[in-house]
Amino acid sequence: MATRWRIHDARGTLAHAGFSRGGLPRRGKARRGVARRRARATRTATRDARLEFVALAMPFASVQACARALSVAVRCKTASLVPRRSRAAVTAPATTGARRGVMTEAVIADDVGEARVTAAAAGKRRVVVLGSGWGAISFVKSLDASGPYDVTLVSPRNYFLYTPLLPGAATGAVEDRSIVEPIRRPISSKGYRYFEANALSVDVAKRTVRCRGSDHTFQDEEDLAKSQAWKEFDLEYDYLVTAVGAVPNTFGVPGVQENCMFFKEINDAARFRREVNERFECATLPGVPKERIQQLLRFVVIGAGPTGVELAAELYDYVYQDVAKTFPRRLLEDVSIEIIDLQEKILSAYDRRIAEYATDFFQRANIKCLLGAAVKEVKDGAVVISDRDGSNVREVPFGLAVWCTGIKLNPFCEKLIESLPQQENKRSLLTDKNLRVKGSDGTIFALGDCATIERPRSLAKAEELYREAARCTPEGDCEIDLSKDGVKKALKYGFDEFPHLEEIYNRVDDVFTTFTGGSDRMSFPEFRVMLEDVDKGLRALPATAQVAKQEGQYLAQYFNTCAGDEDKIKQGDARFDYVHKGSLAYIGKDAAVADIPGFAIVKGFAAGLIWKSFETVSQVSPRNVLLVAADMIRTKIFGRDISRIN
Ligand SMILES: Cc1cc2nc3c(=O)[nH]c(=O)nc-3n(C[C@H](O)[C@H](O)[C@H](O)COP(=O)(O)OP(=O)(O)OC[C@H]3O[C@@H](n4cnc5c(N)ncnc54)[C@H](O)[C@@H]3O)c2cc1C
Repeated sequence: MATRWRIHDARGTLAHAGFSRGGLPRRGKARRGVARRRARATRTATRDARLEFVALAMPFASVQACARALSVAVRCKTASLVPRRSRAAVTAPATTGARRGVMTEAVIADDVGEARVTAAAAGKRRVVVLGSGWGAISFVKSLDASGPYDVTLVSPRNYFLYTPLLPGAATGAVEDRSIVEPIRRPISSKGYRYFEANALSVDVAKRTVRCRGSDHTFQDEEDLAKSQAWKEFDLEYDYLVTAVGAVPNTFGVPGVQENCMFFKEINDAARFRREVNERFECATLPGVPKERIQQLLRFVVIGAGPTGVELAAELYDYVYQDVAKTFPRRLLEDVSIEIIDLQEKILSAYDRRIAEYATDFFQRANIKCLLGAAVKEVKDGAVVISDRDGSNVREVPFGLAVWCTGIKLNPFCEKLIESLPQQENKRSLLTDKNLRVKGSDGTIFALGDCATIERPRSLAKAEELYREAARCTPEGDCEIDLSKDGVKKALKYGFDEFPHLEEIYNRVDDVFTTFTGGSDRMSFPEFRVMLEDVDKGLRALPATAQVAKQEGQYLAQYFNTCAGDEDKIKQGDARFDYVHKGSLAYIGKDAAVADIPGFAIVKGFAAGLIWKSFETVSQVSPRNVLLVAADMIRTKIFGRDISRIN
C-alpha cells in the first residue's frame, strides 16, 4: 500500500511544480523557466521515491526482495520519463538524436471519428514495429537512437517475455515477473513511441496499419461503447517491421481447443502453476477416493520438442523436490507425468545421441514416454492416440493436458499475405534475404516466427546430397535408391550450411511412404517430388528465439547503415546470415543437454550448469539477470513457492 501512495506522491510533486497541461511555452525565458522547474521537480520526485523504496526494501532479508524494490524505484524513475499525451510533446532535433524521455512530436488528428497518427519529425522516416517479442525487442534495442528514424511500436503486450524460462515460471522455479521486461523501458530510453494495441490490417498502397487498442479502465458497457471512437486508429509508415510471432497450431485435431491448455504466454504459465497446485490441494482433502486422486494427478504433455520436454522436466522437479517435502508422501504413488509424441524419441530434432540420452533419462525418471503415437482427438479427460499407421487406438486419461506442439501463422499475417499476390507460401510471410516481404516494394519487413526467408539454394543442396549418397550420374541415374535412414543421413550433412534442411529432415518420417507408394526405398525422382512438396509448407530457419533475435539485430544494423536512404533500404544487398550458436534443453534433476557447434555434446549435470548460467546471463536487462539469479538461488535453498495466491 505504501508503495502505491508514494508513486502518486511522486507524480503529485510533478503536478505541483507548475506543469502546463498543454505543453511547454514555445520559446524564450518562459520555456526555459518551466523546463528548469520540471527538471528540478523530476529530480526531487525521483530521489524521494528512490529513497522511499530503498527504505521499504530494507526489512526484506532476501537478495530478491532488494532487487525488486530497487527495480521498482528505477521503474518509478522511468514512469516520469514516459511521454504522456496530456503533458508536453517535445520535438527532438534530428541532429542531437533522441534523448531520454524526449519524444518526437506526434500529430494526433480526429478525422471523422477516426484517429490518424503521423510522425512529424522533419527528415525522419516513419518506422512502425509490430510486436514486443524477440524479433521486435532486438530490432528496437539495436537501432541507433540518433538515426533518422521515427519509431512507433505497437503490441497488445506491453512487455517482452523471455520464453526459454517459461517452463520454469510455470512451476515457480523462477517468478513470472523476473522473466518479463516492460517494453516501455527500451522505448522511452530511445525516445520512441509505444501504443498498446493490436495491428488489424495493412493498407499496402496507402502505407497505413489499422490498429485497435482497448481502454481497460472502463467498467460498464456504455463507457466501453464511447471508447470505440478512439479504439481504432491508423498509423502511417514509410517502413513496417512485422514481428508478430505465431500462434499455437492444433493441426485440426478435434477437442484440443476445448480440453487442453496451450503453453506460449506468461498467463499460460501462471494458469499451469495454479492448476497443478490446486490439484495437489484437492487430492489431500479427507475422504477423496483413490480413483479421483489418480485422475487429478495425471499430467499429460503433448509434444516432446524442447518446450514440452522442459515443461515435463520442471513439473517432475516440482513434484519430487517440493511436493514430496510438503504434501503427504502417499500422493507421490498416484502422480503420473506422461509425454506424447509422433517421433520415436523425445527431442528428436536434436543430435541422435542427445535424443537417445534424453529419452532414456526421462524413462529412468519415471516420466512415461508415449512415442510414435499420433493424437487423434482430445476428449474431456482423455487423449485418444493411435500408432503412426492409425492402428492400436487407445485412450490416455488425464487431469491436466498441455498442448506443446506446433505453431501456425498469426491471423494478422494471413490477411497481409492475402493482400500481396506474390506471397506463395501460405504458412509464413515470405521474405528475401534482406527480410523484405515479397511483393511489398521494399516497404514491409518481417522477422521471427511469422516470416521465412526464400532459400532456393537449399533445395539444390538437398538434391546434391541425395545424388552423392546414391552415387547418381549428372543425368540422374542412380546406383541405389535410398532408404528412409539413408535420406535422413544424406540431409544431415547439409545442416550446418543450410539449416532449412533440418526442417525437411524432421518431416521425412511422416511423409516417406506417401512418396514411395509404400516401398521402403526412395528413388531420386520420388525424392525430388517429396522435397518440393515438403518445402512448400516449411520455414527456412527454425522458429526459435535465436533466429528472431539475430534477424532483429541484422535488420537494425541494416537500417543504421542505410541511414534513411530510401533506395538503399529498398535495394540494398547485405543479406542476413544465420549463425547457429547451439541448442540447450533442460531435462530435470538439474541436468540438461547441450549441442554447441564446434564442441562435444554435453549432457547431465555439467550441461545443467551451462544451461542455468546461460539462461541467467542472457536476460535482456541487468535487472532481469539479477532477478533470475536470485530466483534460482532461492529455489535451490528454499524450494519453489507452492502457495496458490491467484
Ligand atoms: C515455452 C517456450 C519456450 C521456448 N524456448 C525457446 C528456447 O529455449 N530457445 C529458443 O531459441 N526459442 C525458444 N522458444 C521459441 C521462441 O520463443 C520464439 O521463436 C520467439 O519468441 C519468436 O520471436 P518473435 O519475435 O517472432 O515472436 P514472439 O516472441 O512470439 O513475439 C510476438 C509479439 O507480437 C505481438 N503480437 C501478436 N499479434 C500482434 C498483432 N496483431 N499486432 C501487434 N503485435 C502483435 C505479441 O504480443 C508479441 O509481443 C520458446 C517458445 C516457447 C513458447
